[in-house]
Amino acid sequence: MIENDVYDVIVIGSGVGGSACAAILSQAGFKTLILEKNNEIGGACSSYFKEGFIIDRACHIIPIGIKGVIGKILKKCGLKNLVFSKKIGTDSAVRLLNSDYIPLSFAPNDLISLDQFKGLFDAFGFSPEEQTELINVVFKILQYPRSKIRQMFETKIILSEFLDKLTNSERVKFFLSWFNGLMFVIPPTQTSAAEFLHSFQEMVFKNDVSYPMGGCIAIPQAFIEGVKKFGGIYKPNIEVKKILIEDNKVIGVELNNGNIINSKIVISNLNIKQTVNKLVGPKYFDKQYLEKVNSLKGSGSTIVLKIAVDKVIIPNYSSVHLIHTDNFSKIIESYKDWEKMEAEERIPDNPVFMVPIPSNIDKSLAPPGKQLLIFGSGGIATSEKRNWDPWIERYYEAILDFHPEIDDHLIFMDITTPSPNTGKIKASTDLTSYRGNFMVEGTSLTPDQAGKYRISSQLPIEGLFVVGDSAGTDTHGVGTQIAADSGLKCAQYITSKYKMKTH
Ligand SMILES: Cc1cc2nc3c(=O)[nH]c(=O)nc-3n(C[C@H](O)[C@H](O)[C@H](O)COP(=O)(O)OP(=O)(O)OC[C@H]3O[C@@H](n4cnc5c(N)ncnc54)[C@H](O)[C@@H]3O)c2cc1C
Repeated sequence: MIENDVYDVIVIGSGVGGSACAAILSQAGFKTLILEKNNEIGGACSSYFKEGFIIDRACHIIPIGIKGVIGKILKKCGLKNLVFSKKIGTDSAVRLLNSDYIPLSFAPNDLISLDQFKGLFDAFGFSPEEQTELINVVFKILQYPRSKIRQMFETKIILSEFLDKLTNSERVKFFLSWFNGLMFVIPPTQTSAAEFLHSFQEMVFKNDVSYPMGGCIAIPQAFIEGVKKFGGIYKPNIEVKKILIEDNKVIGVELNNGNIINSKIVISNLNIKQTVNKLVGPKYFDKQYLEKVNSLKGSGSTIVLKIAVDKVIIPNYSSVHLIHTDNFSKIIESYKDWEKMEAEERIPDNPVFMVPIPSNIDKSLAPPGKQLLIFGSGGIATSEKRNWDPWIERYYEAILDFHPEIDDHLIFMDITTPSPNTGKIKASTDLTSYRGNFMVEGTSLTPDQAGKYRISSQLPIEGLFVVGDSAGTDTHGVGTQIAADSGLKCAQYITSKYKMKTH
């Protein structure tokens, strides 16, 4: 039972952006109600419990943990209990088929002592000249002045053009484009070069690539603790059906059970397109605004295989990257046509996997002697039902090429697909039904959608806002970061506009 008419703010959804925004507003003295349709907190950044394992719904490496915007929000709310392990930043590895794991570190000190990359360069077929070139290019990127990056947001240059100006080496360009893909899940022909530089520099200089102890859910969970600490209320298993508008002002929300809760401020954590078209309804917006929202582009999506095994298969690293070829040039060739591959819905012959190993970071995430391996790889971006079986089968087969022993030690494999699977294999989560959105990042970081060109959190209806990875002018970074940044900035705007007392 929810008391009516007493809330200053209603937040719809407890993803990173929604829970961050709700925490800051509660701390600022707003009586806040946060409604979540699922049983668990966190949307794409959630985790669940199964047979002694704590399993992330998706597949996450946190590019900046406590030293970034997430840490800032925790500090502002006096929440010191969330601990990030930095092991991912300093304890990762890359492996090609038929080779060993090659250590890889994201820490600036290690980038300076480049000896550790020797094995990687050799395996990737970099000639000595190309190695020198890669080092030069990375240093140029790291030294690029902030003032120039700000100008680049204005000139809207794309990453591939920027890299073309920096180097002629296809291998160097591809290597950085691969990194860009890991960060923003779009090809370099679409990424804002300014956003890439901004986020890459921050990630390297802050040296805080990490993973939350307790699994990914620990981040939104900590924010929800902040909400409660300052008197706010969190309600799971409540789906909002409509945002109610009168005279171009928000008046509250209608729940799926028909109940109405009033509030003059409503913040939606759903993607901006769904908020406008579904929760509010297009008739409340003018044609120009609707066109702007409906033309926003999202990032690509992923398929995630979460593999629980009864022995430790990969003992040494916190995260690994598997590249299914013994010849890196083949990958360069096959991924040149990324956009075409997506349009043709092709399954990659040589998939590439990002593999966080949460139980190597936090032992409590798996029973003793067992291991949790999370394999994230490309899946076409669609909310339509689809037969995902061929992707799942291909990916599992490719994983076994690296670690055949997994098959004998498998306890279970949970699968996350972008949309519902019509095939025979049961997917435990589909992102569209679970989170309402199949994309890794709701509004992708193209030049028209980055920095000051990013769509505002403030909608053209009094009291209505959207937070998360789909909206927020001048918000930056990879998924969880940009979602948290959006939540924080929107809360700061609301606090200043509605002038509530601060604690
Ligand atoms: C497979 C995958 C891999 C990723 N990898 C990374 C990574 O390595 N690093 C990184 O930083 N980021 C990564 N991301 C991105 C990151 O997870 C997201 O950008 C971020 O978590 C999105 O947060 P959000 O605030 O937009 O909310 P969302 O996660 O979109 O949450 C929205 C919330 O609203 C709720 N909701 C929806 N409709 C309703 C309704 N009608 N009523 C009530 N509640 C509702 C949903 O249940 C959900 O909880 C990844 C994402 C995916 C999917």
